[in-house]
Amino acid sequence: MVSFTDSAEATALAERARDLMEDVVLPKERELTGGMAASDRTLKELRAAAKEYGVYAPQIDEAYGGMGYDFRDALPTFEEAGRSLLGAQAMRIAAPDEGNMHLLELHGSELQKDEYLEPLVEAEISSGFSMTEPIQGGGSDPKMLKTTAEKDGDEWVINGHKWWTTNGIGADILLVFARTDREVHPYEGCSVFIVPSDADGVEIVRNIPHIGPDIDRHGHAEIEYNDVRVPEEHLLGTEGAGFKHVQERLGPARLTHCMRYSGMASRALDIAKAYMSEREAFGTTIADKQAPRHAIAQHETELAAARALVREAADEISAGGEARIPVSMAKVFTANATQDAIDTALQFCGGNGIAKDLPIADFYESVRQFRLVDGADEVHLRSIARDAFEDIDSAELDPITRYGQ
Ligand SMILES: Cc1cc2nc3c(=O)[nH]c(=O)nc-3n(C[C@H](O)[C@H](O)[C@H](O)COP(=O)(O)OP(=O)(O)OC[C@H]3O[C@@H](n4cnc5c(N)ncnc54)[C@H](O)[C@@H]3O)c2cc1C
Repeated sequence: MVSFTDSAEATALAERARDLMEDVVLPKERELTGGMAASDRTLKELRAAAKEYGVYAPQIDEAYGGMGYDFRDALPTFEEAGRSLLGAQAMRIAAPDEGNMHLLELHGSELQKDEYLEPLVEAEISSGFSMTEPIQGGGSDPKMLKTTAEKDGDEWVINGHKWWTTNGIGADILLVFARTDREVHPYEGCSVFIVPSDADGVEIVRNIPHIGPDIDRHGHAEIEYNDVRVPEEHLLGTEGAGFKHVQERLGPARLTHCMRYSGMASRALDIAKAYMSEREAFGTTIADKQAPRHAIAQHETELAAARALVREAADEISAGGEARIPVSMAKVFTANATQDAIDTALQFCGGNGIAKDLPIADFYESVRQFRLVDGADEVHLRSIARDAFEDIDSAELDPITRYGQ
């Protein structure tokens, strides 16, 4: 087993999270067989238990109802939470609320924090993050953003069409990314707004039918914003600094997502190892056969590498850096490593891997999105490649050019 250099506080928090998972969350998950969605009551009970175990909203400042842990110290707890699709919901560290709370904490006015951050932390309200748009709007290339917000007196008027807003149906507030100045480059001309979902002109078109489990109750909405008016106090952060703010939200959110998914992959492997150790075929248990053993060893190695990459990027963020390339490397590597591990875990459970009696089928459906959300694989590889090809030293070619002349 590979161990990492997490602080004593981080390790103690993650151990409490592990206890909550073992004592409360996994037994509750096992009751919800057949892909059943968790009820409001169940989520409430799980959150009450998370408070009791001292692992509720660890990443949020105590002033807003959290526990005041540094991002780096909270990180290992996200992995524990990821061991069930209900874990992050219980600890109030599930996307998209977690990233939205982070953005509100960083840039919200005192009024916005009172009105939205504290109730979000308490799970009295929920939120969505509305950035992606149908073709030809903002997607992998967010500079293609079409949604606009124009100032009219002391109000902003928002017009646009979004889709894939996770939690869009049922959210009380939507953080909407819009172009506020078309005269400048999008990097200087976009802003984020807090839009109450019951504002006039917010029209939910549909919940997009998709691959994915129901247990965590996450839908993804297509939403039209037609002349939606919000008071100027609903601008989140600085006008024109939307890209910068979104980057501040996305960097850490990509890493917390990595940790939730490595927890999921690790649990999938644990279930598969238990099955393989019991199940016999052709005279031995499946765990006794070398090819399956090596496959498990390969995935354990890749997950350990993923955890190390995530910590490397998180250390840089905690030290005040942006860590763009380390975050891209961690994200693209973890998304593929966790997808492959979960696929193998499903395979070695035979038909039971497909059944929703075990959580692996839900994990399998859930993990596929991770190679697309928070930047598709190719978008991160593009950034890593751009960095890799910078500062080329032509002196490396001297031996060739010397003979070629
Ligand atoms: C389950 C789920 C939840 C989501 N939640 C949210 C949310 O809460 N809020 C939100 O705003 N959005 C959300 N999204 C949207 C998500 O962020 C986008 O789907 C993602 O950014 C890709 O954008 P796109 O779908 O427009 O793909 P496109 O931009 O159309 O890209 C299609 C594909 O082209 C390839 N590609 C793109 N650029 C390059 C390149 N430079 N080189 C090579 N290949 C490339 C990639 O394979 C990419 O997947 C969610 C999506 C999913 C599936």
